[in-house]
Amino acid sequence: MAEIIDGKKVSDEIRAEIKLKVAELKEKYNSVPGLAVVIAGNDPASEVYVKMKEKGCDETGINSFKYVLPDNVSKDELLSLIDKLNSDSKVNGILVQLPLPKHIKEDDIIGAIIPEKDVDGFHPINTGKMVADQECFLPCTPNGIQELINRYVKNLKGKHLVVVGRSNIVGKPVANMMLQKNKRADCIVTVCHTSAPDISVYTKQADILVVAAGRANTVTGNMVKDGVVVIDVGVNRINNPHDSTKTKVTGDVDFESVAKKASAITPVPGGVGPMTIAMLLSNTLKAFELQNM
Ligand code: NAP
Repeated sequence: MAEIIDGKKVSDEIRAEIKLKVAELKEKYNSVPGLAVVIAGNDPASEVYVKMKEKGCDETGINSFKYVLPDNVSKDELLSLIDKLNSDSKVNGILVQLPLPKHIKEDDIIGAIIPEKDVDGFHPINTGKMVADQECFLPCTPNGIQELINRYVKNLKGKHLVVVGRSNIVGKPVANMMLQKNKRADCIVTVCHTSAPDISVYTKQADILVVAAGRANTVTGNMVKDGVVVIDVGVNRINNPHDSTKTKVTGDVDFESVAKKASAITPVPGGVGPMTIAMLLSNTLKAFELQNM
């Protein structure tokens, strides 16, 4: 049976380090990092994610400022808030919770955040720097995935890493980060998506498999080789097979059959999810340091 890659434990370790550093900053400069979280509309999942981010800030001593806007907020109103936050010295990082209401183009809003405060790592300047392997804010979920891989796999050089999914948020950045010529990466990378007639042709070759498809059971035990390390990014709410009145959260991987062959695997929940928040807090601390030291 596979070793469980405990994202919650790793995330707790990272958060404890951040808490310590924030306390040192407070002691030394009487100032702490600040994160502005902007949410527009009333998507229930977004509200849950924002609460988790606020809680992460509270626990590590980071100031959080929450801006809740109605579903019918105009693009100009949102842009003027971003403008205000860009020039607010108490705000070191700005996070706009996605998705935005349909009438607002997300790229227009993300592009308005100054790259120095783009702690989500979605601004095109940060994306470009990430691709060029330059110092930048790395996107939180891919950054968390890379951290987990590095803690659980020694010597990544030349390992075949296969990514299922090519979104701008997960698949593409993970692939780019893991192919860089540095010691946290240096993998041979394959990316597959819905245009592949049979993704198992690729998944069976993986030494490390990252699955970010957004569909439960995208990868099953017969699609992987023995000893693979599996990172399951998916968050899917499905009917609970043991109780038809309830739902449960599951990943994109059929945990039971894949864990029998894998050497290590992330659970859902408790794998990648907690790492995303830890990396957001880490980026906010980094933004404070870059802006003040
Ligand atoms: P997305 O934007 O929907 O992209 C999904 C990608 O997977 C697309 O590239 C799609 O291919 C590909 N795909 C879908 N079904 C496939 C299949 N059967 N075979 C091969 N490729 C397939 O999703 P996302 O934003 O990347 O997120 C992926 C999952 O991760 C979701 O469940 C999301 O909730 C979760 N997530 C979790 C966290 C976290 O912190 N835990 C953060 C972000 C996302 P095409 O491009 O061809 O359509």
